[in-house]
Amino acid sequence: MKIENNIEEFESLGDDHIGTSSNTPLRNDAFKLSNEEKIDIIKDDVRHIMETLGLDLSDDSLSGTPNRVAKMFVKEIFGGLNPKKKPKASTFENKYKYGEMLVEKNITVYSTCEHHLLPIVGRAHIAYISNGSVVGLSKMNRIVDYFAKRPQVQERLTIQVVKELQEVLDTQDVACVIDAKHLCVNSRGIRDIESSTVTSEFGGKFKEEATRREFLDYIKLDTKF
Ligand SMILES: [Zn+2]
Repeated sequence: MKIENNIEEFESLGDDHIGTSSNTPLRNDAFKLSNEEKIDIIKDDVRHIMETLGLDLSDDSLSGTPNRVAKMFVKEIFGGLNPKKKPKASTFENKYKYGEMLVEKNITVYSTCEHHLLPIVGRAHIAYISNGSVVGLSKMNRIVDYFAKRPQVQERLTIQVVKELQEVLDTQDVACVIDAKHLCVNSRGIRDIESSTVTSEFGGKFKEEATRREFLDYIKLDTKF
């Protein structure tokens, strides 16, 4: 999607939460600076924002905030921008010859809306049908977490998780549903605390009604221990 370089249009695009690409828009030089160099620059930027707002950075409670936020941006909540952080794609032979779908549900999602830099909190549910190889269960959680640790659009996150697992498992038969709350909707703007957003991506056999239905029925199961 081509968008005009027009501030009003960009703003409404952000408030409507429309993404422009299934790849995270990164510049080619995104990793020329080290993490430490980035933290140093961002620290000054955060300080500048706070000072502009009129805050007194010499107050004990605020003096550490620029450095804390800069470290959190680079190493934690946006740490998944760096491809080096991508979980290793180790698969195993499907020795049990288990040919049905495997569902990993209720995976915790902590991400950040790229339009407002406010949290997205929710659950991801993933399913795949083995084509001969299987993946460790926690690998699916790690893949979700890796792509979630970026400025994100929920639709893109859903697609990125599916694409990654399709590649790792060498099959199209992968699906993902994400149900998440966006704090930019819940805590500001329209301030609707009840609403959540559901996105889904169905690959291969999951495009078929019966397979898709089976996956969605498993998600609905209430798991109590
Ligand atoms: Zn937002």
